[in-house]
Amino acid sequence: MNHSDSLLLEILTLLPDKAFVLTETGRYAMTLGGADTRYYHSGSLLLGLTLHDIMPVPKADGFLQEIRQALASDCPRSLHYSLKESDIPALDGTPGPREELWFEASIQPLSSLIDGERTVLWVARNITESHQLRLELQQQAELDELTGIFNRRKLMHILHSHFSGFQRYRRPFSLIIFDVDHFKTVNDRFGHLIGDEVLRRIAGHCGAGLREQDTLCRYGGEEFAVVLPHTSGTEAIPLADRLRDSIARLDLAACTGADCTLTISAGVSACLSSDKDVETLLQRADEALYQAKALGRDRVVAQL
Ligand code: GH3
Ligand code: MG
Ligand code: MG
Repeated sequence: MNHSDSLLLEILTLLPDKAFVLTETGRYAMTLGGADTRYYHSGSLLLGLTLHDIMPVPKADGFLQEIRQALASDCPRSLHYSLKESDIPALDGTPGPREELWFEASIQPLSSLIDGERTVLWVARNITESHQLRLELQQQAELDELTGIFNRRKLMHILHSHFSGFQRYRRPFSLIIFDVDHFKTVNDRFGHLIGDEVLRRIAGHCGAGLREQDTLCRYGGEEFAVVLPHTSGTEAIPLADRLRDSIARLDLAACTGADCTLTISAGVSACLSSDKDVETLLQRADEALYQAKALGRDRVVAQL
């Protein structure tokens, strides 16, 4: 090997991302770079094997399809994917990261043939850290900071998703909005921090009492919303009343240090075929809640 060849080889070995030359039948023909075992496994064990030899069929099929599309279009493609340890048993016991890894790959057609087969350069960058960070940020953006339950942004997301399900498949769903009665007196009596504690307790209590498919969100302040999938308005009313009753029985003395119970007023609405959007459904639940307040609180009113 002459000097420039060995220099080139050293540079390729030191490239931080992992690169493979793969053939059109999915055979690993060459592996380069990605020597840092904190991020990558050594690919040398894979040489000569095919995608289908080393990973589950659906994954191998998908990867092979990407290779063939890159070759057919003669254009680079990019792909995000994850690999678990169990996806590639051939790498078992080899140095490298053990957790599920996320990669961003660029797949570029090469002009050289290997053993008569067309080839691509598959460069995989380990993006696990940024992927996890993105997931965490996404989760945080959906959670209410005080209570830890979903926030209004997530509520809107859930409602929009159920609304499309209703429009497409006529899958019924209902909504309860409830507001704690005279909550201001809690803050006045015990202070804002204990008021916060009471809101957390109410959120925890409601969350524990719901059916598995229902979702509790903080709508704002001392108002909460429950989305009830596969539930008609008439089915939602007794569920809302059960919630009302269980909160009325909830002893809050552990939070406040003194005798304290609270009631809620709730508005119930169900998605109708005449609903143009999610806002119409929310508006009906809001109006029902307003009526429950006007009628004396500690009650459920439905606008179906
Ligand atoms: P109503 O029965 O008409 O709902 O009476 P209310 O006192 O609950 O209603 P109002 O809207 O007058 O007051 C709501 C209170 O909820 C006032 C506000 O300070 C309190 N609140 C809203 N968000 C929070 C919070 O995050 N923490 C605490 N401690 N209090 C909050
Ligand atoms: Mg209130
Ligand atoms: Mg309120």
